[in-house]
Amino acid sequence: MLTALIKGVRSRPIPGTVGQCPFCNSEMIPRCGEIRLHHWAHKSKVDCDPWWEPETDWHRDWKNEFPLSWQERVFEDHDTGERHIADVHTLAGLTLEVQHSHLDPKERRAREAFYNNMLWVVDGSRLKGNRNKILGWRDALTEISHGGQQTNLFLTCEANELFPSDWLESSAPICFDYMGPNAETSSAPTQLFLLYPGSVRGSRLVEPLTRNGLLRAIYSERVDMSAVRGVLQNVSRLRLSKRRC
Ligand SMILES: [Zn+2]
Repeated sequence: MLTALIKGVRSRPIPGTVGQCPFCNSEMIPRCGEIRLHHWAHKSKVDCDPWWEPETDWHRDWKNEFPLSWQERVFEDHDTGERHIADVHTLAGLTLEVQHSHLDPKERRAREAFYNNMLWVVDGSRLKGNRNKILGWRDALTEISHGGQQTNLFLTCEANELFPSDWLESSAPICFDYMGPNAETSSAPTQLFLLYPGSVRGSRLVEPLTRNGLLRAIYSERVDMSAVRGVLQNVSRLRLSKRRC
């Protein structure tokens, strides 16, 4: 974790202090070495969020793209009492969940239902099969042009050939990052691929973005669920001359 409470105040790790987990209240020890990003480690995380995954620096780098006050926010469903800690929650109400490990589809659905307005940032580099799949992205994506202009929005009939299959049914937008901890940096695409949920006449909508492009999209609320639905509706109204699935 990047934040813990010191005397009730959210704080970065400070050597020689002891913090408290904002979720489970257990003691946290600052880890301020020279190799990994400075972070807090639970003395015991037995009672922490079951959705928590061990964090890589890749995961922490993503969280650190956002203000401290947006990171590691605790949410509670007041009807059920269910509580979870979100990686990032923006001022506009979008939750970002950064995911490196395999995620059981049941848990993915539960997390999407809990946060509702959310965006996944998924490590596409974790498995060799997935690293290889994306190499054919240029041939598998067809750009949509509108009024003679290119849109940087692409359709594909082959989402299952390109992206990790266990994420295709997600109801939230997913940004695949192939520069994760296992990246083959000589061949991996440096851009991110935003896969929109749902489909447009049987095709999937994909938007390649730079890291800064995604950050701008988040800050300008362009990837909030309502905006994402708007883009899907607009694309479905276009007279698309491109090949169909
Ligand atoms: Zn905890």
